Amino acid sequence: METHQNDPAFISAWHDGTLNSDQLSELTSDQSERYQLHLDYLKEHKGHESQHELMAIILLFALFSSQFLILYWKKKHYASYQIVSLSGLYIFPVLFSLYNGWARFIIIWCLFSIVNGFVIHKASRKPLESMTPRMVYKWYSVLYTASFAVGLVGYCMMILVFFGFAAIFNAGPGLMEAGVLFLSYGLYFGVLGRDFVEICSDRMASTIGYYSKEGLPQKHLQGEICAVCGQATSQHHNVANLADHPTGKPMFADDQIHQLACKHVFHEKCIRGWCMVGKKDICPYCKEKVDLKQFKKNPWDTQQQLYLNLLDGVRYLVVWQPIIFGAVQLAYYLFGLD
Ligand SMILES: [Zn+2]
Ligand SMILES: [Zn+2]
Ligand SMILES: [Zn+2]
Repeated sequence: METHQNDPAFISAWHDGTLNSDQLSELTSDQSERYQLHLDYLKEHKGHESQHELMAIILLFALFSSQFLILYWKKKHYASYQIVSLSGLYIFPVLFSLYNGWARFIIIWCLFSIVNGFVIHKASRKPLESMTPRMVYKWYSVLYTASFAVGLVGYCMMILVFFGFAAIFNAGPGLMEAGVLFLSYGLYFGVLGRDFVEICSDRMASTIGYYSKEGLPQKHLQGEICAVCGQATSQHHNVANLADHPTGKPMFADDQIHQLACKHVFHEKCIRGWCMVGKKDICPYCKEKVDLKQFKKNPWDTQQQLYLNLLDGVRYLVVWQPIIFGAVQLAYYLFGLD
């Protein structure tokens, strides 16, 4: 029976809807159901095969020309391209999941939205609270690290299946499925976090109000205090900090410290966060012009072309492809093609 159904004559007879009674009797009930649907389809579309050709040409043309449109848009109006791209990336998958009832994705998406919304809300306040730069930096670097790790685990699972190692542990299709799932989650939230950083850091507040309300800033802060968050920067905590932390060890004491040209010292995470929300080459405390280039480079700002192409691929798959197919369907409908 298997051999019959794999032979070309059987396949082409199925395709043309001309199975004979012998062949029909060999079908399982599931198969004959599918065959019946196929017959219905053939009947409905009989006599307008040339129309199908036209539809294929329209689809190819749309896929091809949209590539140029997207590239042109990205080059000429990057800001609007970025907003549309991020909106699609953010909204489409959750709509799709609602439609399909994928609870797991919806829950993770909601958790992401709550934390991300909170961070963006905090970062848009004017004046900025002293702990915000640190929090912004931490959230996006944790998100980056987590999604990278999840994606990598998924990728390794798929490689294991691909090279047949999974068979040793008796975990074929299940492992592949889990691998695809992990990789998709990692890539999706990786791209999302990256795009949010890029678009939101432009719109975040750029003033730190913590010290300026006391009047003109002093050139030297009392003791060894981070000029962004106001916490001590060394293990040798000073008197002011002892009062806040009677247990002895000040907050963030293990953080790496940086001193700018103006002699002000900062925690690494604080000054990196300031670079993300501040977008200006000035010391957040004394407003003196300093070189912050070394802090502008974040772990996710890779210039690796392969990785950037991968991210563009995810954006294309999630955002542009559904839009293109939707537009093509609309064109079919308007021209009365089916
Ligand atoms: Zn048709
Ligand atoms: Zn700090
Ligand atoms: Zn300074």
